Amino acid sequence: MAKTIFEKHSPGRKGYTLPANDVQIGLDRCFPKDYLRQNELRLPEVSELDVMRHFIELSHLNHFIEKGFYPLGSCTMKYNPKISETLVRNDGFLNLHPNQDEDTVQGALQLLYELQRDLAEISGFDQVTLQPVAGAHGEFTGLKIIRAYHEAKGNFHKKKIILPDSAHGTNPASVILTGYEVVEIKSNARGMVDLEALKAAVDDETAGFMLTNPNTLGLFETQIEEIAEVIHGVDGLMYMDGANFNALLGIVKPGEIGFDIMHYNLHKTFATPHGGGGPGSGPIGVRHDLAKFLPVPMIGKNADRYFLDFGHEQTSIGKIHSFFGNFLVNVRAYIYIKMVGPKGLKRISENAILNANYLMKKLNESYYIPHRDIFCMHEFVASGKWQKEKYDVKTLDIAKRLLDKGHHAPTIYFPLIIPEAMMIEPTETESRETLDEFIRSMLEIAGEAESDPDKLFNAPFSTPVRRVDDTRAVRELNVKTELPG
Ligand SMILES: *Cc1c(COP(=O)(O)O)cnc(C)c1O
Repeated sequence: MAKTIFEKHSPGRKGYTLPANDVQIGLDRCFPKDYLRQNELRLPEVSELDVMRHFIELSHLNHFIEKGFYPLGSCTMKYNPKISETLVRNDGFLNLHPNQDEDTVQGALQLLYELQRDLAEISGFDQVTLQPVAGAHGEFTGLKIIRAYHEAKGNFHKKKIILPDSAHGTNPASVILTGYEVVEIKSNARGMVDLEALKAAVDDETAGFMLTNPNTLGLFETQIEEIAEVIHGVDGLMYMDGANFNALLGIVKPGEIGFDIMHYNLHKTFATPHGGGGPGSGPIGVRHDLAKFLPVPMIGKNADRYFLDFGHEQTSIGKIHSFFGNFLVNVRAYIYIKMVGPKGLKRISENAILNANYLMKKLNESYYIPHRDIFCMHEFVASGKWQKEKYDVKTLDIAKRLLDKGHHAPTIYFPLIIPEAMMIEPTETESRETLDEFIRSMLEIAGEAESDPDKLFNAPFSTPVRRVDDTRAVRELNVKTELPG
């Protein structure tokens, strides 16, 4: 491995020229003596070029979308247009203060207002709040609204939220956080909601149902109307986890097929670089009679003037984030939607679906694909089951070997209902050539499982760190740099 920045240290070498310091700062008059550093801070003394090389080298140790294919299922790691990165750095966006007078931020308010309207239009809902800052945060907000709806009606006996066993982990977590109980139902053999199991689980205490569509197997749930009838039959509400909305743009409007509330992951569907934990934006859309529960403020418009609308403060669930959400992520989503337009949005979903089905078809003889008989949506779930049974090669080994071949691994061991799962989402932005390269790598790995399984057990060979002990890393986290000498 290359030298660390500390090993490049050379006394007196520096990356700046400043006049000699002629100001007496007198820190000892500002801070208690105990707080002041007693010894010189040991920083590497290096040139500007050394520093540049250091950070560029570090960045290459990581994987990112500009470096290679990133089929991390359910995360929609699409390529994000760089023009939005340039535009959000505009002073007019960057230097706003959230406490500024409304009259001085009319443009920003207009942008947020139009984004609310565009998201409502794309999804078929009546009102949208931009306040939640992640998908999970949107779920929490939506569930608070379900609670507010029932409390306003005096439905105090409502205790349970039903969800399928394919649900993302944030769903049950959000249910618990809002004080409801989770009722899990098994998916049927086709990987979809089992209507009979649902009917058996529903009762008068059912507050609502949460469903991801397409679900986490990448399959479109076709029985939404029947499900909605059952749930609405006991005055429950239908919540859609919209993390997989990249498959539905311009094709399906969830608000028109029976859902009452939905969250969007703007950082997945509407292009914001993500991974590594943020920042994100998880707006929610609701049908008209639920709008009075949305967090305040909404962005309103009165004639030609935009304003922060606190009008429904009495019925609102309150604020769920400081100020108005993650403004710059919302700006990126706005730019993306305006740039691609309605036809572009539809083509995004069509191409995402086409790419996923192409991969599924090309991999289905070498890997077990449980639901290969159904066209997938924007992603699909393959499994390392055959490799495990025949050669003791696990999905983890396959994922590690993919790193040697220059690809990011798919999401593995999720959804939990598929053993040795590999959830593959190519996104619409990848070319046929890139998909073919990935297919070639996957087929090579299937071959290696048979001919040279040791190679897979020991992979990766090309990364700076081979296999980390995940459990120990979590329990004994230590990110300290040890200075040489
Ligand atoms: C990503 C995801 C979430 C959570 O979204 P965050 O923005 O990461 O909080 C919820 N459900 C599904 C299906 C997801 O893929």
